Amino acid sequence: MIPYGRQDICQADIDSVIEVMRSDFLTQGPVVPKFERAVALKCEAEYAVASNSATSSLHLACLALGLGRGDFFWTVPNTFVASANCGLYCGATVDFVDIDANTYNMSIDSLRVKLEVAEKNGLLPKIVIPVHFAGQSCEMHEIKKMSDKYGFRIIEDASHAIGGRYRGAPVGNCAYSDITIFSFHPVKVITSGEGGMALTSNIQLAEKMKLLRSHGITRDSQQMVAGSEGAWHYEQIELGYNYRMTDMGAALGLSQLNRLDDFINQRNLLARNYDARFTGLPVTTPKVHKDAYSSFHLYTVKLPEEIDKPTYRRIFDGMRNDGIGVNKHYAPVHLQPYYRDLGFNLGNFPVSERYAEQTITLPLHYGLSADEQGFVIDKVSQAAMPYVKPRRK
Ligand SMILES: *Cc1c(COP(=O)(O)O)cnc(C)c1O
Repeated sequence: MIPYGRQDICQADIDSVIEVMRSDFLTQGPVVPKFERAVALKCEAEYAVASNSATSSLHLACLALGLGRGDFFWTVPNTFVASANCGLYCGATVDFVDIDANTYNMSIDSLRVKLEVAEKNGLLPKIVIPVHFAGQSCEMHEIKKMSDKYGFRIIEDASHAIGGRYRGAPVGNCAYSDITIFSFHPVKVITSGEGGMALTSNIQLAEKMKLLRSHGITRDSQQMVAGSEGAWHYEQIELGYNYRMTDMGAALGLSQLNRLDDFINQRNLLARNYDARFTGLPVTTPKVHKDAYSSFHLYTVKLPEEIDKPTYRRIFDGMRNDGIGVNKHYAPVHLQPYYRDLGFNLGNFPVSERYAEQTITLPLHYGLSADEQGFVIDKVSQAAMPYVKPRRK
């Protein structure tokens, strides 16, 4: 099977993990802060807080921003469930903003309209979580303007987007948000095994996330209620979690970070090759907004409009049977059974729903060979060929 995404591990990556395994620290030790500083530097952020997953980091971000019972938060349906689950962990109420039909990111128009209605009803969100789908930044300038007007905070779910750029600057610099989250799950752009990171320009938010990722325990006498009573003394001052990254994971992540530019270049080359080879076919290739440089975590194609559900299924299964690990990103979150139980239904977010019915994720990763990509292109072409419209005379 040609997977849709896959990690690429080189000898230097392996050596860096082994070095940690021979050292004093396996769990969070000296390499975690090294990795944090390196990501912050690369992404032009002030502070970085690593954790054991992007899901944990999203949760820490919501907690640091004070999300709780009685609050509302919004994200998009076209995302992984974690973008919405993180706020539910805090007891807050979720709602969704539909996506833009071209970029598949949060629609600025839908957000604007929804905010106007919410303001009238006194139900404005405390936090909005835009998701940089497939590695392309959302229109953060516009979202930031609305946050200034309506007073919500912004967490960028940039799980797909490390190495991407927006208006010439790296995603993660938090120029338009309070906190930005990266994922280092193996299918993502770089990996630490499992892992996530929260970036911010706000030292209080960074400190709060650091405290909560390790049980809410402090060893800093300044933060203690009693003050230090000796070298053994620590205090739990908040209810936190064990969300720490391991030093082994951080070593892998740090080594992978050295390869980030190479990974992103290669992903963009492969994406451009797909684009070129699909021109003339009745499939829609991803549109990248002029302000964005995508990290191309994912490459999705929209099949011809007239394809119905059974045909979509036949094409999808056919490609899987041919050994192509196609996937769907994403079945809309609001239609997951858990979310339907919260009151969401088919028809609530039509652009996301229609998008999901028509779209297939094709293999795109650093190690994808020219032969493999050629095979995928042939299969997509064969599937789309019957839908080429005859040219009118
Ligand atoms: C992968 C992903 C996450 C969760 O990442 P983990 O590191 O696996 O917890 C969250 N949001 C989006 C958009 C993702 O793609």
